Amino acid sequence: MLELNNLSCGYGVFHAVGDLSLSLQPGTITGLLGANGAGKSSTLMCIAGHVTLQGGSIRFDGHDISTLPPHERVKRGIAISPEGRRLFKDLTVEDNLRVGGLIQPASHFAKDRDYVIGLFPRLGERLTSLAGNLSGGEQQMLAIGRALMTRPRLIMIDELSLGLMPKVIDLCYAALKQLQADGMTILLVEQNTERVLSVAQDVCVLESGRTVWQGKAADARNNHELTEAYLGLQ
Ligand code: ATP
Repeated sequence: MLELNNLSCGYGVFHAVGDLSLSLQPGTITGLLGANGAGKSSTLMCIAGHVTLQGGSIRFDGHDISTLPPHERVKRGIAISPEGRRLFKDLTVEDNLRVGGLIQPASHFAKDRDYVIGLFPRLGERLTSLAGNLSGGEQQMLAIGRALMTRPRLIMIDELSLGLMPKVIDLCYAALKQLQADGMTILLVEQNTERVLSVAQDVCVLESGRTVWQGKAADARNNHELTEAYLGLQ
């Protein structure tokens, strides 16, 4: 459903990512892995339309979306839960969800909010709290929930487990599996390689903006050179 063809992107004359080709199959989870500065966040932000595409193309559902502004990409079904979450900290949980849902008719709001609460019941207990007062885990749930309010078919999640307690990480990963069961396609950026390999079907490993490995997660697990050199696993 999403195809990156020789994608290069970056900032001014700086190429953060070069020549990345990646194809996401509908209903799958793809892990985008790599060390700090490898270009993972830049890739997600380029797909969302927030970082400049310097070469190549992005196709979604067979259409070239490379030049579409970010809000048009959201309308077509691409949502992002960005690095740092970027919540509206002075708004309540419910209003953060409402902002995410602005792209949909107002009549969808209650149903979509309840879907998010079904996924993350904790958010249902904090609807009137300010987003800035939430714990890190709750903020992560809200960032994902806000993205889901756009009714995406592809959700991109940056650094899902960063800074979260193992119990909360379990909860977020359980939610991912639920989303996949509901038909969502997921592109996941993570530094927690073991977690990604436990849920993803496909994996792409970046180093300094270049693809060093791409394939099935099961093959990545069995590739000792890869797991030791790039994925930090023994
Ligand atoms: P991390 O996990 O540390 O966020 P990453 O794999 O997501 O790493 P990016 O954040 O995409 O990597 O960064 C890729 C490269 O682009 C890095 O060299 C980084 O310094 C550079 N970069 C990122 N954001 C900007 C920016 N706004 N302006 C200029 N360079 C940037």
